[in-house]
Amino acid sequence: MAKPLLEVKNLKKYFPVKKGILNKKEKFVRAVDNVSFEIYNGETLGLVGESGCGKSTTGRMLLKLIEPTDGQIIFQGKDISKMTDDEIRPLRKDIQMIFQDPYASLNPRMTVGEIIAEPLIVHNMYKDSEEMKKRIHELLGMVGLSSYHSVRYPHEFSGGQRQRIGIARALAAKPKLIIADEPVSALDVSIQSQVLNLMQDLQRDLDLTYLFIAHDLSVVEHISDRVGVMYLGKIVEITDKDTLYDNPLHPYTQALLSAVPIPNPRIKKKRIILEGNIPSPLNPPRGCAFHTRCKHAKDICKKIAPEFKEVEDRHFTACHLY
Ligand code: SF4
Repeated sequence: MAKPLLEVKNLKKYFPVKKGILNKKEKFVRAVDNVSFEIYNGETLGLVGESGCGKSTTGRMLLKLIEPTDGQIIFQGKDISKMTDDEIRPLRKDIQMIFQDPYASLNPRMTVGEIIAEPLIVHNMYKDSEEMKKRIHELLGMVGLSSYHSVRYPHEFSGGQRQRIGIARALAAKPKLIIADEPVSALDVSIQSQVLNLMQDLQRDLDLTYLFIAHDLSVVEHISDRVGVMYLGKIVEITDKDTLYDNPLHPYTQALLSAVPIPNPRIKKKRIILEGNIPSPLNPPRGCAFHTRCKHAKDICKKIAPEFKEVEDRHFTACHLY
């Protein structure tokens, strides 16, 4: 089997919480707690879960925008998790990010051309300004915008167009891996599918690999090859898309999927209502972190954390039911 483009092993991020007038560190928010997965060349791995489950923190650690507490991030065979800024600089252009909020992620004082040029300048990719201009126009064309848009400012564009500009910026340095952090959740539903289709076309044409982070399983279904489900800082289930949607094993995945609307009204499915809120990662429940909301919870679930294991071919989950 081919080697993964990215391998994440036992990744952790614990944020210290300071207390008292001496700012003593007393507790840790376990935002990401022992997360492992791989992403192969040319595929899209969807990472799904409720707000606060650690999926965005995971994405940001891969870009080293947040330093991991522990674990390994192996990109193209090299562990980047402990690299210094100087060591990681040449690799930075290979991993880029598309941000959630197309309104906040573009500098309002810069023209679209300047925004897209930023990574080209940072990575010293063009000496000749005419060549760089040509590349900017090419990138605008790739995301369905026109070259004259390069002299306009972000406020002159709609949300969908701004996200296209964000995508052009992410593509500028010819990355291999793109972390897309909720890239369509701020957009109207009608625009969401246009942006998702664009991302799929670009993936096919440019041989891109995506980590696609979202809270909505219906969005992830459209674009992913495999899907990982996160709950309270941990991956609770991961498998290929069809298996996950046809045969979800973890009760949390089953509940999330039961809330996804089905286009055919003749197919009836029972909605599983999750009781209560997601517990605080400052004080996660003992045993299985999902036991406070799980209707299948048994005594063992309250005491012992289930092992994350392969229960069917390439279908992993962490649950005492299997
Ligand atoms: Fe539910 Fe127990 Fe499985 Fe956790 S381990 S998901 S509480 S059945």
